[in-house]
Amino acid sequence: MNAEIIAVGSELLLGQIANTNGRYLSGELAGIGINVYRHTVVGDNETRLLEAFREAAGRADVVVVTGGLGPTQDDLTKDMLARLTERPLVLHEPTMEKMKYYFDGKEKPMPQNNKKQALYTEGSDVFYNEAGFACGVAQTWERSLFLLLPGPPRELKHMFEHSMKPYLLNRMDEHAVVHSRVLRFFGIGESSLEEQLSDLIEQQTNPTIAPLASDGEVTVRLTAKAPNRQQAENMLDTVEKDITRTAGPYLYGRDQETLPSRVVKELTGSRDTIASAESITGGWFSKVLVDVPGASAVLEGSATVYTEKAKRNVLGVERPLLEEFGAVSRECAEDMAEKVRLLYGTTIGISFTGSAGPESLEGEEPGTVWIGISVNGTTNSHRLQLSGSREHIRRMAVYYGCWYVLN
Ligand code: ATP
Ligand code: MG
Repeated sequence: MNAEIIAVGSELLLGQIANTNGRYLSGELAGIGINVYRHTVVGDNETRLLEAFREAAGRADVVVVTGGLGPTQDDLTKDMLARLTERPLVLHEPTMEKMKYYFDGKEKPMPQNNKKQALYTEGSDVFYNEAGFACGVAQTWERSLFLLLPGPPRELKHMFEHSMKPYLLNRMDEHAVVHSRVLRFFGIGESSLEEQLSDLIEQQTNPTIAPLASDGEVTVRLTAKAPNRQQAENMLDTVEKDITRTAGPYLYGRDQETLPSRVVKELTGSRDTIASAESITGGWFSKVLVDVPGASAVLEGSATVYTEKAKRNVLGVERPLLEEFGAVSRECAEDMAEKVRLLYGTTIGISFTGSAGPESLEGEEPGTVWIGISVNGTTNSHRLQLSGSREHIRRMAVYYGCWYVLN
């Protein structure tokens, strides 16, 4: 089954908002094994909207439309579906009741144009909007199924998750369960990983293997189709084993796991605690750990020691060491890691010192980062040569920090 997504709204074309609905829907559809072939963004314009519907209908099994279900004049989506399908718009009573109840509560008359939100094309399946007013619609026309969803992301997600997704799954081949799993890799580029897995990727049609690079990590989505969930899971297990045989050392997690969530989980399991001394990362490492629920079991604290003075005064790094080796050095990184460990009384201390650019620091090229790790008094360090923007260099330093803690 394949799909296209149409996002409606002139504000999208004007660059006033980003099409996050399109992104959300793509991810969700991929997750249930529906291939998305195209995204279209179209303004609040009758002719172009109708044209977009007509074109998509000629190609796609499912056309998912978001936005333009509201009460105002520029909300045209349902009118255009009615025109395309040549069906009248009829009133959805439960939606009408909900709006009446709302306006009664406010002791205000309901503006007439609100009625629009309760309309649907005759003969379609209607979806009550739990999170707002405008009802959703599922309408078959020629070979395509049109799904209309409200534009506000909260309403869209609620309706998709609770009504449209089950509806879609129901309509898909009843004997085929589609199940997918995401494997997460770090420390290897997309092309190297793809090269390592190329034979597998080529031989494999079910489950399919699809690598994707994003923001320093590489993910591989495995999608299996099988008669039932257990069989799909077994198939996924088998390919995962094949993949880990070659790329295992770079695998750090599955599905929703992140490097920081893995760190919290691992350290919780091993009853370790950690503290960070952060120069180049300025507290970012501790931030990503605190983002993970349950971080208090492992993160004791963090010292942001950006200047040499701070490194001396807060951690007790000695002036001669800084003078001899500089702050961006193995010696300084290791000293910081050990000292922050002692300062916070943790089993692990980690440090970040480097040059984020754009200027070079102490003769070190921008992108040079030292990460020190002290575990129960045994200290070592890693040198990274990163490239990209200041922001990217710092983010990658944080991810590598997590990675070294895990390895
Ligand atoms: P409303 O009842 O609010 O008018 P609607 O279904 O008519 O809802 P739109 O008018 O198209 O939807 O959009 C309403 C708001 O929802 C937009 O102002 C925007 O904030 C958000 N929105 C719409 N489309 C998208 C999209 N594709 N991605 C992210 N946000 C969106
Ligand atoms: Mg609107």
